[in-house]
Amino acid sequence: MKVRCPNCGALFEAEEEGIAECPYCGFRIKIGEARDFMYPLKIQNPRHFLMSFIRLQSISPNDVDSKARILEQKLYYVPFYLFFVEASGSAHHGYISSEGFGRVEFMNYIAVPAVEGFDELINYPLPAKGRRYFERSEIKGKLLEKTLDVGKARRAVIETVSRSLKKEAERYYHWGGVDVSLETRYAEMEGLVYYPIWRVTYKYGFFTYTAYVDGVDGRIPFAEFPISGVKRFVNLTFSSLLLLTGVFTGKLLMGYGITAPLGAVGTAVIGAYPSLRKSLRVKGRASEHRILNEVKEEIMPEEEAFRFARQLFREI
Ligand SMILES: [Zn+2]
Repeated sequence: MKVRCPNCGALFEAEEEGIAECPYCGFRIKIGEARDFMYPLKIQNPRHFLMSFIRLQSISPNDVDSKARILEQKLYYVPFYLFFVEASGSAHHGYISSEGFGRVEFMNYIAVPAVEGFDELINYPLPAKGRRYFERSEIKGKLLEKTLDVGKARRAVIETVSRSLKKEAERYYHWGGVDVSLETRYAEMEGLVYYPIWRVTYKYGFFTYTAYVDGVDGRIPFAEFPISGVKRFVNLTFSSLLLLTGVFTGKLLMGYGITAPLGAVGTAVIGAYPSLRKSLRVKGRASEHRILNEVKEEIMPEEEAFRFARQLFREI
């Protein structure tokens, strides 16, 4: 009979019972057994990994490692549904035009948390090595029971695949506004994987921050971190300068009718708003496997301010 390897996804021929070894990756499969898997804990001290990651964030304070105080660190075994997904579709530019048709394909495992409250971990890439059959005695932390039903998880999987196929098509064909229609899709639930994740809360200054640390390889699925006071000050200065420039040029243009000064002040307010908002924010958010939108805009706060300043001067 045909067996799909729960580790690498390959299909191969195996006996009806007993143990089969995947000819592609060597994973040993018990035929006909319950499909529950786990990863043993490898990371005993999540703090080190968390602080290294936070220091890499350009807007975090330099003394975060020495000043942060861990309030609690708790180990959870989070259940994931493991789906094997095969999907393909056609990518097209716009809705009516058939110009530039292209094929996109997806075939891989996708892991979706089987509990609520871990949405950041949809499609979290589980390591290729280290998966084994579930053994209750090897669980060291708190085992979370699954609460989400498979149907709901499958919908999240299809949505995720559509989104990533669309992104893939946009990158590959260099089109904006690409639409992908999925033609064939196959998302079979192949098993449940219990995965160790540390939940860490720590204090820096007056505020408390929460972060997750992967218990197998120390990656950071999601972390809140403090934003440096100096960097906040830079943002505040930029936004104040922009506002002042707007008011000043508005005054200069007073003699030229009402729209010019209003336009100058309006542009300055719009330009100053993102920096102003950022200068008031005390918490940053980052993830090692996903680019969060607000992180992207925080990478170069000055550049954004300059862009609006240039626009302002063009208008005058
Ligand atoms: Zn395999």
